[in-house]
Amino acid sequence: MAKKVLVIGEVREGELRNVSFEAVAAGRTVANGGEVIGVLLGENVSGLSSELAQYGVDRVVVVEHAELKSYTTDAYQQALLQVFDVESPEGVILGHTSIGKDVAPRLAMKLSAGLISDAVSVELDGDDAVFTRPIYSGKAFEKKKIKEGIVFATIRPNNITAIEPDPSKTVDVSNLSVDIKDLRTTIKDVVRKATGGVDLSEANVIVAGGRGVKSKEGFAPLQELADLLGGAVGASRGACDADYCDYGLQIGQTGKVVTPDLYIAIGISGAIQHLAGMSNSKVIVAINKDPEAPIFEVADYGIVGDLFEIVPLLTEELRNVLVSN
Ligand code: FAD
Repeated sequence: MAKKVLVIGEVREGELRNVSFEAVAAGRTVANGGEVIGVLLGENVSGLSSELAQYGVDRVVVVEHAELKSYTTDAYQQALLQVFDVESPEGVILGHTSIGKDVAPRLAMKLSAGLISDAVSVELDGDDAVFTRPIYSGKAFEKKKIKEGIVFATIRPNNITAIEPDPSKTVDVSNLSVDIKDLRTTIKDVVRKATGGVDLSEANVIVAGGRGVKSKEGFAPLQELADLLGGAVGASRGACDADYCDYGLQIGQTGKVVTPDLYIAIGISGAIQHLAGMSNSKVIVAINKDPEAPIFEVADYGIVGDLFEIVPLLTEELRNVLVSN
């Protein structure tokens, strides 16, 4: 049976995050031939509608309000509940991002809906959308479906392939005005850390360093390698605890969960808490001087040796290959 599915677009610094396009693809599967509606919340976000259209939504609902400029739980929850009232969706898909993780359970609770969080794929079994999600820190996967009510899910970035964009596609865009009141918090200002570059949670290539990198300065060659590959730098908690880098780069159970196409772990032992955040990466390369390091158990390719010798050599070789192509 065809369903009406809402997909919440996530806007960061005036741009749609890639996970929004992946959510549209998931929404199309759940809709099973029905309507997929993109929802944009924020201030001055209507210009992003055409991009959502290109990635496969059938129409877009824009909700603009000064209180939606920066994310707050209260304001987003109030706005989205009003969108749900108007649209009566049978499915809702969000990214499993900081925002999705925060707001989805609250919305599901308000709607008395089930919630499947952190899905890495979705397929149809007859009329039912069946989601696959990792469990036990990525050691196993379970398949889940919602038996009744709204099909509500968050999807892990970088796992579901977005639909190839069609630049010629245009769709109806409507504005919905919402009433936002009695907020417990408002954002006065957002001060961003100047990390720049590629967003770690959506990067296709991650070059991650551990305590073996030994210093802040030791991360510079890793950044060079990441830049060369168009990727982002990440870190183990060991490296963050040692103050070699910011906790915003931490990958693992208590850091970010990532699924890049290529994960290069450098001077990282591979503790279970680190593996929880990266073991589902498509290709894992480990560089470690200890041949017994547990990281080699999950690595597709391993280099045993001193990272301070290997990383510059690898960077040089890759530069030669990339430049000659
Ligand atoms: P180490 O374990 O010290 O490993 C350093 C590695 O570098 C070693 O394998 C060594 O052989 C190698 N090395 C050293 N010098 C060189 C060299 N010159 N060349 C090549 N290799 C070299 N950790 C996370 O990463 N993310 C989390 O989210 C996280 N959450 C946690 C939550 C809890 C509740 C707890 C208890 C722990 C958590 N941890 C987490 C910590 C985790 O248990 C490990 O302590 C941490 O991952 C170790 O970081 P590391 O691999 O960089 O350091």
